[in-house]
Amino acid sequence: MVSVDGELEVKPTVARPRRGGTRIGAASVRTESPAALVRRARKINRVLAETYPDAHCELDFESPFQLIVAVVLSAQCTDVRVNLTTPALFARYPTADEMAVADPVELEELIRPTGFYRNKAKSLLGLSVAVRDRFGGEVPGTLEELVGLPGVGRKTANVVLGNAFGVPGITVDTHFGRLARRFGWTEEEDPVKVEHIVGALFPKQEWTLLSHRMIFHGRRVCHSRRPACGACPVAALCPSRTIGETDPLKAETLLRPASAREAAQLAAARKAAS
Ligand code: SF4
Repeated sequence: MVSVDGELEVKPTVARPRRGGTRIGAASVRTESPAALVRRARKINRVLAETYPDAHCELDFESPFQLIVAVVLSAQCTDVRVNLTTPALFARYPTADEMAVADPVELEELIRPTGFYRNKAKSLLGLSVAVRDRFGGEVPGTLEELVGLPGVGRKTANVVLGNAFGVPGITVDTHFGRLARRFGWTEEEDPVKVEHIVGALFPKQEWTLLSHRMIFHGRRVCHSRRPACGACPVAALCPSRTIGETDPLKAETLLRPASAREAAQLAAARKAAS
């Protein structure tokens, strides 16, 4: 199955529990009590928090409007590319009022590097007009109002709520959904169901950071095609730990830390977990 990121999703296979060990296997997950599931999920979150202490929204923005625009542009595009594109865009159209009256061709040219630029330009124009006309130019701060804007779904709304308004939200993108299933937290594919099921495992105040940590881990370690299981700090808690590269040295070559500092944090987390 091809995800919205264009990546190939790998279906989890059954991992064998180690006899007498503390590792969690798929068989254990099937008989895991709700309380044990919550404990394991929160333990995974703690390890991810230690591994990615700087986990954050990787899109650059200076206002809720700029964030919502960046999220629209990030569809089928990397955050890095979006961040290379938005400085010129926001210099030209810093607010909803200004973007609402943008020349469509000029707008398309500015966002062309992010791909699907014609559709994205239409979305941005519709979104800007709605924010200007319905909310006086200010992006609203509730889920109901946000999802009422053209082209804004729950994922975008939750990113904006969590990162621009400080309202806890779970962002179920392709990484989050894949990891939640690999962790055995849910078998659901529907992002809204995943959001509710995973939300029930954690205190609300953890939701936004949990989302960032999951997305960081999905991008750096638990890739859709070849997860680096042998170098993964949460492997002992993950029932899918045999679906990827299990040889530690080979797995290490699959890691994609964004900086030397992240590489060191990953190495320390792996050491602590072993
Ligand atoms: S990389 Fe880690 S989280 Fe992903 S499947 Fe392997 S062990 Fe599980």
